[in-house]
Amino acid sequence: MSKVLIAMDKSGSFRVHLTITTDMCREASQIHQTTPVATAGLGRVLTGTALMSTMLGEPDNKLTVQFKGDGPARQILACADGNGNIKGYIADPNVDLPLKNGKLDVGGSLGIGELTVIRDLGMGEPYSGTIALVSGEIAEDLAAYYFISEQMNTSVALGVKVGEDLDVAAAGGIFVQMLPDAQEGAVDALEKLLGEMPPVTTSVEKAILKSAGKTEEGVLMTMMDDVFADLPEEYALEIKGTKDVRWKCDCSRQRMMSALATIGKADLREIIEEDGQAELRCNFCNSKYTFDRKELEEIFKKM
Ligand SMILES: [Zn+2]
Repeated sequence: MSKVLIAMDKSGSFRVHLTITTDMCREASQIHQTTPVATAGLGRVLTGTALMSTMLGEPDNKLTVQFKGDGPARQILACADGNGNIKGYIADPNVDLPLKNGKLDVGGSLGIGELTVIRDLGMGEPYSGTIALVSGEIAEDLAAYYFISEQMNTSVALGVKVGEDLDVAAAGGIFVQMLPDAQEGAVDALEKLLGEMPPVTTSVEKAILKSAGKTEEGVLMTMMDDVFADLPEEYALEIKGTKDVRWKCDCSRQRMMSALATIGKADLREIIEEDGQAELRCNFCNSKYTFDRKELEEIFKKM
């Protein structure tokens, strides 16, 4: 489990959501057996989605964040609910590209494409917004989404560091969102601070080193103090609370059965006659579900 630390500055000009997601990104990379560039892409999308999920109002609200492009990774998708359950996948977990300027080329893996964000608040039509990818590097695209689709000035920093052993060494993210009545001075102070901000994973590693023996909340507070240390006193941060986020897939036999029931009678008949069984795999967690002839006949009868 990870926590998201939520804070607001004293003047009510902006809010900060900050998290360390090393465990979540490691779990996702192990489930999907990702290459380093796929680990970075999927991890950044999961971390961004986790931060965004803390802005959902109700536990049953749902959020989908989908990056689609003409690059070899094709698609990275993550889903979250208001309880902080996060799941996701990358269409090609084996995508492999040379480093670009010494860095994992997440933008190149996605290529030219679109970002779609869908929020289902459980009443009426879900709210959906789509923008063209800015760089495919994830954080920049999410910031552009907030600016274009929601008219909110948001700075997003996301980082996933893959170690030499190909395991996730550190991962985390920071959202800074301006509020409607933001003071001019706060905007200037933030711009200066964010312009000089070190990579998120550097801040994560530093905070962990500095806070041995502390709780996760303590580590996050150390990280926040460190990253925002240079803010003028009138814009100092005040902690508003924490929210839990975790990797969790909610697939089940029942859900898979419902999915089978949507393929149409003719197609299901064909599967029964030709294969005598069906094996379905969950895109998010790779769990396999097998249905034998008897079960398929029952689904068929109910269609
Ligand atoms: Zn699943």
